[in-house]
Amino acid sequence: MSKGILVVVSGFSGAGKGTVMKRLLEKYDDYALSISVTTRNPRPGEEDGREYFFRKREEFEKLIQEDALIEYAQYVENYYGTPRSYVEEQLQAGRNVILEIEIQGAMKVKKKIPEALLVFVTPPTVEELERRLRDRGTETAQVIADRLARAGEEAKGMDQYDYILVNDTVEECVDHLHQIIVSEHSRASRNTEFIADIQQQTRAFQK
Ligand code: 5GP
Repeated sequence: MSKGILVVVSGFSGAGKGTVMKRLLEKYDDYALSISVTTRNPRPGEEDGREYFFRKREEFEKLIQEDALIEYAQYVENYYGTPRSYVEEQLQAGRNVILEIEIQGAMKVKKKIPEALLVFVTPPTVEELERRLRDRGTETAQVIADRLARAGEEAKGMDQYDYILVNDTVEECVDHLHQIIVSEHSRASRNTEFIADIQQQTRAFQK
């Protein structure tokens, strides 16, 4: 069975990544979404173990010490990290694992795991980005301002990603992402065993 692809998805806060990932998992098989650990407080409606594992700072620091996280980063005053064991299990089981993480974490994954596929999700325009952030309505003006400032920082790293995915309508964006991942499975460098096998078997035909 072929291994799954580790897909790192980043994008501006307010780009609609969460909605796109949720729909991707509903619509297509063979995907698993990694649930991160964070020290931030749950937003209304969020549940421990569903959106995130919400943990105290000391507990998070313990996970770092135990090397239980593939990567972690600080984002607007809080820690966020990716638990290692679930990701490894799911990849082995042939599922594509989605990490929805910010750019510092994405760069760490790229360095540690070069075969990871990095996708950056963006609204079609900056005006649209600002509108989506304000419309969410769950954040204070200060948090919105921090996130917009952070967007400027993140835009600087967009060219480090393998694909830029414009989120105009959710359905199109989901289908497009799925197509990218399906195509990636055909990449020669991801099929070295298959290639070696065919090369070995066809060697017998050579004169
Ligand atoms: P939010 O607080 O809006 O849920 O997330 C803030 C940012 O943290 C988002 O850009 C989100 O993608 C990112 N994030 C979520 N989980 C992780 C993680 O495990 N590692 C890293 N590096 N970033 C994460």
